[in-house]
Amino acid sequence: MTKILFSDKLDNCVERWKSAGLTVIGPVQRSNISTYAAIEHAAELDFSLVLPDRSIKDLFFPQSEPMLRYTIKKESIDTDECLPPSGPRIIFGARPCDASGMAIDDPLFGWDYKDEYWFQRRNETVIVTIACTKADDFCMCTSLKMAPDSTKGSDILLRPLAGNKGWQVEELTDRGREAFKTIADILQESSDPAAPLAVVEKKFDLDACVTWLQNPENFESRFWKEISMRCIGCASCTYLCPTCHCFDIQDEGDTYTGIRRKNWDSCSFALFTMHTSGHNPRSTQSARWRQRIMHKFNYFPGKFSVNSCSGCGRCSRQCPVDMGITETLQEISKLSL
Ligand code: SF4
Ligand code: SF4
Repeated sequence: MTKILFSDKLDNCVERWKSAGLTVIGPVQRSNISTYAAIEHAAELDFSLVLPDRSIKDLFFPQSEPMLRYTIKKESIDTDECLPPSGPRIIFGARPCDASGMAIDDPLFGWDYKDEYWFQRRNETVIVTIACTKADDFCMCTSLKMAPDSTKGSDILLRPLAGNKGWQVEELTDRGREAFKTIADILQESSDPAAPLAVVEKKFDLDACVTWLQNPENFESRFWKEISMRCIGCASCTYLCPTCHCFDIQDEGDTYTGIRRKNWDSCSFALFTMHTSGHNPRSTQSARWRQRIMHKFNYFPGKFSVNSCSGCGRCSRQCPVDMGITETLQEISKLSL
């Protein structure tokens, strides 16, 4: 017997969590974009997609966020720090690749400086993940040594029952257990079997790719130019990626008053590494693409012992020129043979 949350009880759960003071967030369609957003009723949730266009990263690390407001006076500067909005939240229906993306970025945001904006939201959010029973050609969690039911980064894992009747509940953390205590009387014991997990084909040999990337002789390989000729530097791959985390800090305002903001940035942009002198150490799109791959599978794991990729496939799925990390790693796999 396993604890089951039946689908027809989900609206009761949403009401219960809201009454307990939690903001309930889940996969929805908003302005023709599939994303994660706050809901009032379970009927707003859309579980029909393999995964939403936008990842849950936006909920912890918004695209643009005010850090402080400033006013420059004759002999002083007034500053007013902007703290992240606080309050407990529950994300219901994240995918395992999105939840693991947040766990991948935790050491980055807590490394030499603890990013309070990130950690306040992380500490106040319960992530309830639904294991995947369907996948598309872009999904590649298994190539990253994960699985459609990976638990990394999740507080609760739900395994769908056959026939969309509900979910088996697996409580993983104290934070998850606490949130599910609120709905303890709604859950039922049942022996209903879980639906089969999605079959996600392994697309490349990650270890072979990493060995090739770590070989200094391959840094100047012609491969980088050949694989990235069609990249237009739009940064969709970065912005949709659950693990990409680069940002820039800009002052926006007039001479005397303004807001200091933290804005997403991307290694795909030419201006990302442009020096004031005009020199750009990554002056070509191929150098920028090489940096993206090297960062995710060589430099980041070298520092934090984890790849900066959860295998969600968004970078390939949404690329306007049909490029992406999958194709690059498949080609590197062949070069490594
Ligand atoms: S790889 Fe595709 S999505 Fe990424 S910057 Fe290049 S064109 Fe844009
Ligand atoms: S690099 Fe691509 S596949 Fe990996 S987590 Fe980012 S968007 Fe997903």
